[in-house]
Amino acid sequence: MKSSYDIIIIGSGVTGCAIARELSRYECSCLVLEKDEDVCTGTSKANSGIVHAGYDAKTGSLKARMNIRGNMLMTSLCEELDIPFKRIGSLVVCTDEANRKGISELCARGIANGVPDMKILEKDEIREIEPNISDDVVCALYAPTAGIICPFRLNIALAECASQNGVDFKFNCEVTDVSKLGDEWIVETSSGSFECQAVINCAGTHADEIHNMVSDKKFHITPRRGDYMLLDRSLDGFVKHVIFPQPTAMGKGILVTPTVHGNTLVGPTAVDIESRDEAPVTADGLSKVQEGAIKNVKGLPLKQVITGFSGLRAHEDGGEFILEEAEGCKGFFDCVGIESPGLTACPAIGEYMALKIAESLSLKFKKFWNGICKDVVKPFELSEEERAALIKEHPEYGRIICRCETITEGEIIDAIRRPLGAKSLDGVKRRTRAGMGRCQGGFCSPRVMDILSRELNMPLDKVTKSGGGSKIILGRTKNEG
Ligand SMILES: Cc1cc2nc3c(=O)[nH]c(=O)nc-3n(C[C@H](O)[C@H](O)[C@H](O)COP(=O)(O)OP(=O)(O)OC[C@H]3O[C@@H](n4cnc5c(N)ncnc54)[C@H](O)[C@@H]3O)c2cc1C
Repeated sequence: MKSSYDIIIIGSGVTGCAIARELSRYECSCLVLEKDEDVCTGTSKANSGIVHAGYDAKTGSLKARMNIRGNMLMTSLCEELDIPFKRIGSLVVCTDEANRKGISELCARGIANGVPDMKILEKDEIREIEPNISDDVVCALYAPTAGIICPFRLNIALAECASQNGVDFKFNCEVTDVSKLGDEWIVETSSGSFECQAVINCAGTHADEIHNMVSDKKFHITPRRGDYMLLDRSLDGFVKHVIFPQPTAMGKGILVTPTVHGNTLVGPTAVDIESRDEAPVTADGLSKVQEGAIKNVKGLPLKQVITGFSGLRAHEDGGEFILEEAEGCKGFFDCVGIESPGLTACPAIGEYMALKIAESLSLKFKKFWNGICKDVVKPFELSEEERAALIKEHPEYGRIICRCETITEGEIIDAIRRPLGAKSLDGVKRRTRAGMGRCQGGFCSPRVMDILSRELNMPLDKVTKSGGGSKIILGRTKNEG
């Protein structure tokens, strides 16, 4: 790998990878540095997976502009990158007549922001489209352009597409310092130093630390934890829209939503914490999730929970997306404070930042660029004839490894072998869903470990859950034979 690039992006979440894909349209050399072992390991891996309509953010703010544009771009992006996405619409539910004014204000803000086709529905109209809505419902703001997406595939596909168009990625490579030497930026990392013309800071909850290395105007991020409960696929159809309560100063509140894979997701809470990397789920968090969910959805079978997880928002003190060249730091570009709706906004942030950088470095478009990137082949999405033909040619697609999600050995091998392939159990899980089902990997984990060990030619006791020190087995407890 070279040590000198035109552009270095710090962080391989959706923000960094969306920018990388857009920059890969231009003639330039670009490197993404990531401190973890894979893409999609930060905030982008643990969120609600909602493509927001765009009525929440303050009119005229970058958050509002990027949300509206990102939502608009999402359909074509998901077609190009084979990302599961459904525009199922959202309902912001009012359960107290005294709060009706808040719904009208939200609607007015949405109209001012440019959200299409919103309307306020009354109790009977809501019941018709959402039979399990709370009996206390008074009215709701309906936004048909809201949707649900697979957040993992969004992040991974953006990275794969950037990679196939020439962007380099380096993992397990933590940026420890950034400084300027003449016209060049020097990026020090845990695996050596790199030089470049432009740095793009997409470090999520660490983006203030990276920015503060170079600029006198300081930023401050508060990590804000959100706990979730994921319910079994047997509840598919219990709710049909993304159901939000009315928003508060801490965010959009506890939602209940179907996921693109047929689970029901409930959460998140919003609690400010110290750690920027660790977000352990708490019992208190989960009970708040339950309380919040049943306020809006009656009879939700919360005992059907298959797992709990949490994510960390990168809340900057100003509460706005910061997407700019840092003051007094020519060639150093910030993406700071990318909290919700960052997932929705990522296609727009990619477009916006790539344009700024292309102008700054006078980049020219490439003659050939391939924006299409297909997901892992999924035999159970094929017709019976197609599946039989695939298995005949590649028998590994006939061997089921994950029984809950019906994931085959062929899919796992593909996930490991493709560019920027999986290196750990979690990497396989995010690319194929092996281990995401009802048993949460209880049956398939040892078999996935065997495949990882064989494909990556590493001993079984070196296979990790998510890189670093997350080893699963430490050694033999019995002698062979
Ligand atoms: C609970 C919750 C719910 C959300 N729900 C939604 C939603 O429904 N819809 C929506 O639109 N948005 C949602 N969001 C927001 C969305 O998930 C984020 O805006 C988005 O994922 C941020 O992506 P990112 O790339 O900026 O950050 P990240 O995904 O965190 O990526 C940053 C990367 O930088 C790396 N990094 C950090 N420091 C260094 C370093 N020194 N060197 C190298 N690498 C480094 C990290 O390891 C990480 O991989 C939610 C967020 C949370 C927490």
